[in-house]
Amino acid sequence: MAVQPPAAARRIVIENAAIATVDAAGTEYARGHVVVLGNTVESVGDGPPPPRLADVARRIDGEGHLLTPGLVNTHHHFYQWLTRGLAQNRILFDWLVELYPSWARIDAELVHAATLGSAAALLTSGCTTAADHHYVFPRGAGDLLGASIEAVRQLGLRFTALRGSMDRGRKDGGLPPDHAVEDTDEILAASEAAVDRWHDGSSGSMLQVALAPCSPFSVSTELMSRSAELARRKGVRLHTHGSETAEEAAFCHQLFGMGPTDYFESTGWLGEDVWMAHCVHMTDSDLAKFAETGTGVAHCPSSNARLAAGIARVPDMLGAGVPVGLGVDGTASNESGQLGTELRNALLISRLRGGPDTLTARQALRLATMGGARVLGRQHEIGSVEPGKLADLALWKVDGLLHSTIADPVAALVLGALPPLTLLLVDGRPVVERGHLTTADEPAIARTCAKAARTLAARHD
Ligand SMILES: [Zn+2]
Repeated sequence: MAVQPPAAARRIVIENAAIATVDAAGTEYARGHVVVLGNTVESVGDGPPPPRLADVARRIDGEGHLLTPGLVNTHHHFYQWLTRGLAQNRILFDWLVELYPSWARIDAELVHAATLGSAAALLTSGCTTAADHHYVFPRGAGDLLGASIEAVRQLGLRFTALRGSMDRGRKDGGLPPDHAVEDTDEILAASEAAVDRWHDGSSGSMLQVALAPCSPFSVSTELMSRSAELARRKGVRLHTHGSETAEEAAFCHQLFGMGPTDYFESTGWLGEDVWMAHCVHMTDSDLAKFAETGTGVAHCPSSNARLAAGIARVPDMLGAGVPVGLGVDGTASNESGQLGTELRNALLISRLRGGPDTLTARQALRLATMGGARVLGRQHEIGSVEPGKLADLALWKVDGLLHSTIADPVAALVLGALPPLTLLLVDGRPVVERGHLTTADEPAIARTCAKAARTLAARHD
């Protein structure tokens, strides 16, 4: 009897699909194939797959489908899944002040539930890699980072856990209530411990850690500087919110005597190992500094619209060579929670500012894939469908009711409704099939999250 190869070394073949590889040349195939071997793309090309492939565990007919790289989410706050639909008509600062007291009552069990909800929404909308910026650590709340990591592992998402932090409360001129912030030294010790415990910097990693003080208006200058030093000593990346609103810019000018980007520069926060969420209110000089230093941007169009923050200068960023990816942002400011729909929203919002050619459908797809991969420093591993890269792939059905009259499959994905997701592979493993998680029961997650949201809403000081 023949010895079976280990499951990880078996092949999955997808054939007859339109393919947008999002490689450097933007190669597309009207009818092509992808062969996955274990967790890696073995081959991609036009027409049928190579004949006589051995160890084919599964052969998928991609007729009527578009295959793309899995989408990469560069900014999120998973815990906010429990506080959606609140503070509906607020700008950022008023929205934060309304929600901070509730967030300060979370614990590990609630974060675990919220992460299941957030990660499920991401996966079922085509996302294969996500960064989660967690910055609320109430005293005695348990191991919040560990809770989110456990939930993500259960669902099979490739993950960057961002150890966030806040140490500038009201008494120090910050926005959060004093009881919601941590001590600076404790934050740095916990951040270093999180990197030591969780960060896997190897190629193909399913779990990385980065350091992520929350924002200029909730973090001390000392914590910004020392976090940058710590991250560089440990070899991990840096993330924060930057230039999100006009109010933030005014806050920086008042407190620091300079705008947000100059402040970040003064604290060691520009560089190829840094990416920032939003970057809506950027001057020409700010953009030039991002371009010169290779600092990345997580563009979150729906959240920026929901909070009336403004429209980021994405075409100018791309023109200057700034790395730009897409982000859902927390689901208290983007209740959809889907990354797939952000491609369309990025395109539409960009055109409101800059006209009809400012962002094409293919540029929007590139933002959501290679752009995000570059922002997370993983452009050599994920973000495009190329031999040797990790098998993080999305197979979208574009011949159904909502898409069958759109001849260009990339236009169907970006300009049309979000297509049904027939298959999502993360690390070569099917984690979504016919639109649903293979790794968990969705109605059970919905019930768990609803109960957790009620528990949080009922908590009072
Ligand atoms: Zn955010």
